[in-house]
Amino acid sequence: MNELAIHFYQEHGVDLYQDKLEIAICAQHNNGGLAVDHHWQTNVKGFFAVGEVAGTHGVTRPGGSALNAGQVGSTRAAEYIAHDKNISTGRMNDSMKNACRERAEQVIQLLAGANHGTKSLSEAWKEATRRMSQCGGMIRNKEEVKKALDETEYVLINYLQYVSVTNISQASLFYHLYDTLLAQKVYLTSMYDYLMRKGGSRGSALYTSSTGKKAGRKDAGFVYM
Ligand SMILES: Cc1cc2nc3c(=O)[nH]c(=O)nc-3n(C[C@H](O)[C@H](O)[C@H](O)COP(=O)(O)OP(=O)(O)OC[C@H]3O[C@@H](n4cnc5c(N)ncnc54)[C@H](O)[C@@H]3O)c2cc1C
Repeated sequence: MNELAIHFYQEHGVDLYQDKLEIAICAQHNNGGLAVDHHWQTNVKGFFAVGEVAGTHGVTRPGGSALNAGQVGSTRAAEYIAHDKNISTGRMNDSMKNACRERAEQVIQLLAGANHGTKSLSEAWKEATRRMSQCGGMIRNKEEVKKALDETEYVLINYLQYVSVTNISQASLFYHLYDTLLAQKVYLTSMYDYLMRKGGSRGSALYTSSTGKKAGRKDAGFVYM
């Protein structure tokens, strides 16, 4: 630990020479999933992805590269858009327009039937975030990831029977939860796929298995795939 940090803690009542440091763990990166080219354009023409959603900073990177990748990516995408007449004038091809219209209609339709669910929005929200923290956090195993994926898919398919909004002020949260569940499905699917390909513990998570062999002392008691 560098000296500045030692002083910083000292000023906040923690003497690193004497005291144990209380720590907490959080997810620092998402590392994307959308492939982009050197203009940060995805394989859907006119659709750009910058930041964590693209994850061009990569899994192993020098510290600080994520923010830089976001800034560089945004600038490159903006420059490209400014020079591409089709994109900068906002022209969409017909198939894109139709896809957007169809989706917008489906989304509006969703709210129309949003008062028949059995759970309140806040209850469903807590359940979704608790499930993701438990199964998709930094310690994961195949059975729990699969169970969480099945449950998430079930809620998405039965969203209208599951969640209820009581007044229009909850509309944005109703959509936000739906979006969150979709994102959870994407990430759980990716985690499960990784597990099915015999992926094991690495930088972002520890994968445990009830049938795996016990790790040695160095591995702090975790059981690996
Ligand atoms: C604790 C921590 C420390 C970090 N330290 C560093 C560091 O030292 N150096 C470094 O380079 N990087 C660091 N990072 C990573 C860096 O912060 C991220 O890579 C960067 O902020 C990602 O930018 P982004 O715009 O892609 O995503 P975000 O900054 O996450 O922005 C996404 C935005 O979208 C909003 N949003 C999400 N869903 C919806 C929705 N459905 N509708 C509307 N809005 C929505 C969110 O509220 C958020 O404002 C750190 C990250 C964390 C968590």
